[in-house]
Amino acid sequence: MKKYIILVCLISIFSCKKVGKKNGKLKVVTTTTMITDLVKNIGGDKIDVQGLMGAGVDPHLYKASEGDVGKLFNADVIVYNGLHLEGKLEDVFEKMRQQNKKTIAASDALDPAILIGSEYFASNYDPHIWFDITNWELITQYITDKFCELDAENSETYKTNGADYLKTLASLKLAITEQVNSLPVARRILVTAHDAFNYFGNEFQFNVVGLQGLSTATEAGVKDVQRLASFIEEKNVKAIFIESSVPKRTVEALQEAVRAKGKEVVIGGTLYSDALGSAGTAEATYVGMYKHNVKIIVSSLK
Ligand SMILES: [Zn+2]
Repeated sequence: MKKYIILVCLISIFSCKKVGKKNGKLKVVTTTTMITDLVKNIGGDKIDVQGLMGAGVDPHLYKASEGDVGKLFNADVIVYNGLHLEGKLEDVFEKMRQQNKKTIAASDALDPAILIGSEYFASNYDPHIWFDITNWELITQYITDKFCELDAENSETYKTNGADYLKTLASLKLAITEQVNSLPVARRILVTAHDAFNYFGNEFQFNVVGLQGLSTATEAGVKDVQRLASFIEEKNVKAIFIESSVPKRTVEALQEAVRAKGKEVVIGGTLYSDALGSAGTAEATYVGMYKHNVKIIVSSLK
């Protein structure tokens, strides 16, 4: 009897380990809200998605909790941004890979030749890749292909969903181009809390200046604020912007420094940079976030 119980236990442990897809669904754990949104669009009802980071969470500073490690360990696949955006999770990802856990870095979809270089990150590249819609299209195709490999049974669904989402991104790109074109190139100066928008600037010809450098892990100093205040005065910039995942005090200090020069610059509003908006709002999706940002940027700088 005892032997029988041990055998049953062993079988159940073994079969649990063996089944990749519990309830027929691929278990996917994602990091940022942008990645979570994309993965949901591709996977639809064939996957179970658990996003580690919520709205307003800064991925540069995010540390894994014990609960997160458990979620990552139980996932069939982990999808993350890469290029050290999730700097404090790198060790955890490495441990997962050592355990033969499947991981997908979105940045692997992109040829290094199209990446923006940066000395701030161990990767040597600017990790804010989602702000180039063309990048996001390449990443959509890449993750779709990976899901098809991992879960061939549902590959037709992933292909259809991926193709639908590519159409959505193409029409987003058209709409944004039209809006941006209403703003003269000379007015396309984007001053924000940290340098998250370089890819956006590249795609839509904006001169992008961040107070804090590429990572929020480095604080802006008094010199940075003064330098940027002079730049705003010189270029006659009408508005500067707060970011949803970065404390607003540095941007307010900049506004004060411009005032001290006898100039007025308004805070144009809050942009979503490294996280999407709260669940239930239009800005909780990549498309909604992008439209919100560009509407605010264009109307404030006109
Ligand atoms: Zn950032």
